[in-house]
Amino acid sequence: MPSSLDATSYYQATAQAFPAQPALRGEAVADVCVVGAGYTGLSAALELALAGYKVVVLEAERVGFGASGRNGGQICTGFSSGQRKIEAQLGKDDARKCFALAEESKVLLKERIVRHKIDCDLKWGYLHTIPKAHQFGELTAWKDEMDDLGCTDTSLLSKAELEEKLGTHIYHGALREAGAGHFHPLNYCLGLAQAAVAAGAMIYENSRVVEADTGSNPFARTAQGRVSAKFMIIAGNAYLGRTVPKLYGRVMPVGSYIIATEPLGTERARALIRDGEAVANTKFIVDYFRLTGDARLLFGGRASYSTLEPVNLGAYMRPRMIAVFPQLADAKIAFAWGGFIAITYNRIPDCGRLSPTVYYAHGYSGQGVALAGIYGKLLAEAVRGQAERFDLLARIKHLPFPGGVLRTPMLVAAMMYFRIRDALS
Ligand SMILES: Cc1cc2nc3c(=O)[nH]c(=O)nc-3n(C[C@H](O)[C@H](O)[C@H](O)COP(=O)(O)OP(=O)(O)OC[C@H]3O[C@@H](n4cnc5c(N)ncnc54)[C@H](O)[C@@H]3O)c2cc1C
Repeated sequence: MPSSLDATSYYQATAQAFPAQPALRGEAVADVCVVGAGYTGLSAALELALAGYKVVVLEAERVGFGASGRNGGQICTGFSSGQRKIEAQLGKDDARKCFALAEESKVLLKERIVRHKIDCDLKWGYLHTIPKAHQFGELTAWKDEMDDLGCTDTSLLSKAELEEKLGTHIYHGALREAGAGHFHPLNYCLGLAQAAVAAGAMIYENSRVVEADTGSNPFARTAQGRVSAKFMIIAGNAYLGRTVPKLYGRVMPVGSYIIATEPLGTERARALIRDGEAVANTKFIVDYFRLTGDARLLFGGRASYSTLEPVNLGAYMRPRMIAVFPQLADAKIAFAWGGFIAITYNRIPDCGRLSPTVYYAHGYSGQGVALAGIYGKLLAEAVRGQAERFDLLARIKHLPFPGGVLRTPMLVAAMMYFRIRDALS
């Protein structure tokens, strides 16, 4: 992985205390071995530990090292792919059930924050803004679709109404969702880990799985230990690499970057986003931003399909922030960091079984903050023998990405296409 991804993020600098977990040494036996301590793995581990299962989580680095500790913190509705692609595969009724699961993911997140007393700056409210006036019709259609799906807490904002809320003139209106929002993603992840440990799960950090047997008697081997288990859950997402060859190629890692300003003071921050909602534009290559608990602007976007890191992330991202908020020209960028999103070909998350006792879920395609929690819960349900809801999602078919030399150039070409499409639309 490129080294700048390890630069201290705003989240690391403001993380709640979480005790370092030991590395695995020697042999361990568990009911369930979970690979990866992000939202997916920890959600499954928490559910299973609460249900009395002996759970071992193996994390290559530290809890929240992957996307779950680096993301924009935007709690979104539905799937990155949109509903239509899911309908095309499952039909309207089952696609509605999938949407209901996505809705449940936000409820689950909220319940866990309350139940486990997770201090993570949770804030509800989300504005989807349009960069071009002619896109207002798309917002209206989107609202109609949301109403039809039972998500009735949305409203349309004209350009003038939006400009009362946002300190920028570049957008032409917005769809506001009351039921989506934002939070401090790493603190949520650490809170989940804390809850899983309290429920009896063992988490081993600095314990990269170097070999996983995904047959019916699964085991995972690290440099200094080995876990054998009745079940295995693989939740390494974009960071899994080639550890499980059958999963390589089902997702593609895409670099995504975020900056955070110095603290702006409440008044200046509120002049940018009056009510503190999360904001994202509706382009394919999304700009998204929000205020942090300590009144910074956190601004993300700019995907890199080539996996080549920009040399100076701050300088790379800043012009996009200034394009939205020119009044921040004098604001210092205090943090800049990146992470890898796992995308699937159709942007629908991918889950399934590698054997009757080995399950996986990954590929939330940039929209996993809420979804990964419900996928983790469904993985746990499947281990417990109640796989109906998991199987609904596992029925969705996915094309693998090409391997070898074609892998990166094809995605760079796709990215160019979407950039040009955004510019022309
Ligand atoms: C920069 C960025 C911004 C994003 N913004 C948003 C957003 O605003 N809203 C949203 O909904 N989604 C967003 N996402 C996506 C979201 O963060 C992810 O979908 C979600 O966190 C996925 O969780 P996960 O647990 O599946 O994977 P991860 O959080 O990536 O966790 C996987 C874990 O597995 C570990 N691992 C991998 N291989 C091994 C191995 N061999 N052995 C042991 N451990 C291993 C990794 O170290 C890692 O900790 C963003 C992602 C990024 C990178």
